[in-house]
Amino acid sequence: MPAIRGTVGKVGHEWRTAPPPPLATADLVGEPSLPTAGRPGQRQPRGADATLRVVPIVARAPRGAVSPDLFDRSPEAIAAHLEDAAHYPGGHAEAVARPRTEADIAEVLAQGRPVLAVGAQSSLTGGATPDGAIVLSTARLAEIGPPVDGLVRVGAGVVLATLQDALARQGLEFPPVPTYMGATVGGIIATNAAGAATFKYGTTRDWVRGLTVVLPGGDVVDLMRGEHVLDHTGTFVVDGPAGHRVVPIPTYTMPDVVKRSAGYHAAPGMDAVDLFIGAEGTLGVITSAILRVQSVRAGLCYALVPVADEPEALALVGELREASRETWRTTDPAGIDVAAVEHMDARSLEILREDGADRKYEVSWPDSAGLLLLIQLELPSLTQEEAYDQISRALDEDAPDTPLVRFCKVLAAHGVLDDTELALPGDRKRADQLLGVREAVPAGVNARVGRAKRDVDARIAKTAADMVVPFEQFAEMMTIYRDGFARAGLDSATWGHASDGNVHPNVLPRSYEDVEKGKALILEFGREVARLGGCPLAEHGVGRHPVKQALLRQLYGDEGIAQMRAVKRALDPQGLLAPGVLFPA
Ligand SMILES: Cc1cc2nc3c(=O)[nH]c(=O)nc-3n(C[C@H](O)[C@H](O)[C@H](O)COP(=O)(O)OP(=O)(O)OC[C@H]3O[C@@H](n4cnc5c(N)ncnc54)[C@H](O)[C@@H]3O)c2cc1C
Repeated sequence: MPAIRGTVGKVGHEWRTAPPPPLATADLVGEPSLPTAGRPGQRQPRGADATLRVVPIVARAPRGAVSPDLFDRSPEAIAAHLEDAAHYPGGHAEAVARPRTEADIAEVLAQGRPVLAVGAQSSLTGGATPDGAIVLSTARLAEIGPPVDGLVRVGAGVVLATLQDALARQGLEFPPVPTYMGATVGGIIATNAAGAATFKYGTTRDWVRGLTVVLPGGDVVDLMRGEHVLDHTGTFVVDGPAGHRVVPIPTYTMPDVVKRSAGYHAAPGMDAVDLFIGAEGTLGVITSAILRVQSVRAGLCYALVPVADEPEALALVGELREASRETWRTTDPAGIDVAAVEHMDARSLEILREDGADRKYEVSWPDSAGLLLLIQLELPSLTQEEAYDQISRALDEDAPDTPLVRFCKVLAAHGVLDDTELALPGDRKRADQLLGVREAVPAGVNARVGRAKRDVDARIAKTAADMVVPFEQFAEMMTIYRDGFARAGLDSATWGHASDGNVHPNVLPRSYEDVEKGKALILEFGREVARLGGCPLAEHGVGRHPVKQALLRQLYGDEGIAQMRAVKRALDPQGLLAPGVLFPA
């Protein structure tokens, strides 16, 4: 019988949502919040004519007036914007601009000075650290439109927590959010951020239907998914008041993995919207997005599962992945429906105990546990009494056939049911405790890095990777990480999103030499991950981080970087937007 602590409360009405359906444009027709001006007939004609005609993206002039208080050159305003969450050193800026209108953004771009768009500056790559630029804060682009047919237009500066609150009031949610709810809509689109539940819900990219972007030169494009797809020319053409631009799309092949934040999206037949998603602010300033949203999931349940060792953990995760996929395929009402499985390794568990996180969050696990899994399970509407009843009878012969019973049976078959801690639907307090345990791992590691930087060597910095492989290669990737750290004599902790094949191996540096060794190792890991069909840059992006930029170059080669530079030159010939992000300026 798993440990269930907390209060008994009512659960919601909605229990099951299928994974996102394939993107289609049909349901956008008549959507009142969609941009309408400036778009021509658009859809690339098919058939013989299509080989000859390139249908341009028609840009328009910016709307609105220039605000009198657009620029703030006060030392306080500048000082507040010089660092992102990567604590990348050396940030400096000459002004902060806080646009309200497209005309404001065009005005900022017309200064002829470098411009760095920033949201919450929660970037973990230095991508939101200004390098002598005008910092363009999106804080005032904060409108949330009314949801219509599962779509909502949201300003780039809207903070995710605010968005979720506003949506929740209408029974809706935006599922692919990253862990950090202080991030902005513009930021998550610019980095193609991804959360724990990518396994079920995909990344930010999968939920963006449309974008409005101000380009260098002041032209504005309103892009809707499905209206401009890459044709035989391999180029997108943009025509507008500021001129005619031909954007050559790179020809490299992106790794086929569930999450990727590794430079410009490039694929045959790709959508123009996708060029700006994950471009890290180097191609244009996103002013607003049309996001897909869904009914809020009321039946969310969390299970903290101690597992003896990694092979056993991966067997369990693999079985839950398969069962969930089967449920989505068959829409079996009794099927297991897992949205995410998070993973914390043995060293992470030591850190949790050293920091007292187990006591703080009132959780425990046996000393024999080699790692912890945190499973996000979606259940149908049921009361907590019903849930208790199902759990207590789960292993009986006459147990009802329900998702919760099947889940318990899988845990029992893996010998982990008795040690599992559950937070049932509606028990927000217990859910927050289990989630708190997971968040205490990066917090504990970051604190140790900070102490080493303070007490041992000021050059010590966070040294970590963010790589993803197809789930089938996950075990091999973990072996590569473990062997690499052991060979280099490095202390390390690894945690992350096991259901996606995406974890974060982190060095726990005892000296600056450890940091140097760790950087070399990360490049080696990147080569191995690419060999396994994975991507060495999964969800945080590239930014200005030298190791991440080296990983990008390693992945696509000099030719790939040259092709990205060609995209950048076509849209930003003066190199004003986010110089030094993705590749050196
Ligand atoms: C505690 C913590 C947990 C995190 N967890 C996750 C996680 O689970 N998954 C994940 O993917 N990331 C995670 N991150 C990283 C970070 O939150 C994401 O990268 C997020 O997308 C950044 O959003 P932001 O608003 O802070 O953008 P910023 O950091 O301000 O900017 C990030 C990049 O986007 C560009 N940009 C911002 N706004 C615009 C715009 N309007 N137009 C064009 N470009 C723009 C910037 O120029 C910069 O290159 C985490 C960070 C922290 C601190």
